[in-house]
Amino acid sequence: MTNSIAIHGPVPRASVQSMKEYHPPLGCRDALRLDFNENTVACSPKVREVLGRISAGSLTRYPERAPVEAIVAVHLGLASKQVALTNGVDEAIHVLFETFLEEGDELLLPVPTYTMYEVYASATDARVIKVLAGEDLRFPIERLLAAISPRTKIIAIANPNSPSGSAATRTQLLDIAERAPHAVLLVDEAYFHFHGETVIDQIGKVPNLIVARTFSKAYGLAGLRLGLLAAPVGLMRWIKRVLSPYSVNSLALACLPPALEDTAYLGWYVGEVLEARAEFEAALDEAGVRRWPSCANFVLVEIGAQHKEFTRLMSAAGVLVRDRSSDPGCHGRVRITIGTREQMCQAVVALHEVLVVLNRKGGAQ
Ligand code: PMP
Repeated sequence: MTNSIAIHGPVPRASVQSMKEYHPPLGCRDALRLDFNENTVACSPKVREVLGRISAGSLTRYPERAPVEAIVAVHLGLASKQVALTNGVDEAIHVLFETFLEEGDELLLPVPTYTMYEVYASATDARVIKVLAGEDLRFPIERLLAAISPRTKIIAIANPNSPSGSAATRTQLLDIAERAPHAVLLVDEAYFHFHGETVIDQIGKVPNLIVARTFSKAYGLAGLRLGLLAAPVGLMRWIKRVLSPYSVNSLALACLPPALEDTAYLGWYVGEVLEARAEFEAALDEAGVRRWPSCANFVLVEIGAQHKEFTRLMSAAGVLVRDRSSDPGCHGRVRITIGTREQMCQAVVALHEVLVVLNRKGGAQ
């Protein structure tokens, strides 16, 4: 009998059984972290100050999200009811997909793109329709428009996109929203600060537009898990039915107002990254390494057949980078996060050393 219980134990939904496992390499990262597109320095000192003042007693309470959502809404020029804070953009994506995707629906996804869209979609009963970018990895607008069907329920676009670094224009995004009025257009602006272009001002004006933002990148708060969704009130009421009222913890909520207020820190960090990106791109060009133009805090480079060895040797030289070879259309390509100018000088030294080793072994690029 015990045996039959073991054999006929609880079985997850069919879609979960067929999901691929996803294990990002988050272990052993005590090196220069150019692998996850995080802030490579720190959060604002004002945030650190607030964290230091948090009392043990305040941790006994459940977190209250609404007052902080009101502050964020003012910051974004939106109404409170149009904003939901989430446990990172990942939770926002998860909740959005759970709210809208059911059997027979299609999620339209330009690829390569951020992995978690497909992870969360494959846990639903919807189909994922992938639209592959061309060799230049630019936003495949024409193919995406052609792939819109009556079954399209969500179109998820990271803008700027990862790992390519390319961006769709505002006109393209608004065109997509107009051509798919029956679908939600999610524009994930995780890397907004390094690009400067947004469609968040169109929230409530374009009825099917939803925008996501994160505090994990420019703000340097990836460890706190803080993201947000901005959506028209009519869509937000459904999303908030699914979203946990408790998922954003009180430390994250306490840190958000000082993070928003310290525009000087944010400006400094973004400025530093943009300068470092230009210098690093010039160094790549000089070294003859093919790269794709980037609107974000990372650059995708072509390493070729030795991509695994490149990633391993860079890591051995103290610089973590991310092999994106298993992404669609990205074989032999590695993504390198941009940190400060000083950090990128260290990365360039490591890059040169590693390329010499690979060339000796027989043709890196
Ligand atoms: N969207 C994109 C496009 C990303 O690249 C990432 C993180 N790499 C996320 C969302 C996840 O953001 P968060 O840390 O807020 O969950």
